[in-house]
Amino acid sequence: MTFSIKDKTVLEKFLSDVLAANINGLSSMDELLSLTNPDSRALLDMIIGLDPYKYGFKGELVPQEPTPTNVVKIKKDTINQGGEYELDSSAYLPKQVFDAFSSMAESFHAENPNRELLVGSGYRSPAFQIVILLYIFVRVYDFDIAVTLRRVALPQYSQHCSVSNTAIDLVNVDGEPTDENPTKFKDTIEYEWLLTYANQYGFYESYPLNNPEGIMWEPWHWQYRG
Ligand SMILES: [Zn+2]
Repeated sequence: MTFSIKDKTVLEKFLSDVLAANINGLSSMDELLSLTNPDSRALLDMIIGLDPYKYGFKGELVPQEPTPTNVVKIKKDTINQGGEYELDSSAYLPKQVFDAFSSMAESFHAENPNRELLVGSGYRSPAFQIVILLYIFVRVYDFDIAVTLRRVALPQYSQHCSVSNTAIDLVNVDGEPTDENPTKFKDTIEYEWLLTYANQYGFYESYPLNNPEGIMWEPWHWQYRG
């Protein structure tokens, strides 16, 4: 699929408007759609309606749930991947996921006093997931939809949009993972500890090396399964 010069201009303008409007991880679809005009709405609908399986994505549909009401807001203190920090400097976790994460982070810190498990990204509303996808599509991958869809899931396929089984993108105090070499996170003390203990707190590595979903190895991405 290719995008015309006009399409690209429309999407760039829409993205600028979204950034200026401070759309965040809890923003609703109505808030996002209120920033569209007929041209950008048509392109947005087309992108949302794409079939990611046609682009090499092999992940599963994530059950859609209403926006969570009991959410803990966390200030992010490290830049995380994909320019998301520029979109929202906070992360959000449903209360039960926050509690499980806090227990895990406390145990890790007790065993590694100079280290911390930090949250780079947690729950994202479907609208915010679309904004991240758009950001990566426009500003990182230069309108290459195939590459974008293998890096960022559409909302209905993203574990970050799950309320019951939210995924967390972890960051350590050194700022790993970085954009430049994200999988270096696999060499950290944090990752080694998570492999041994995370399951005890209900967290599971969703996309290990050579995962059958065809998603790049994401050693920092851990889903809460209770
Ligand atoms: Zn993730």
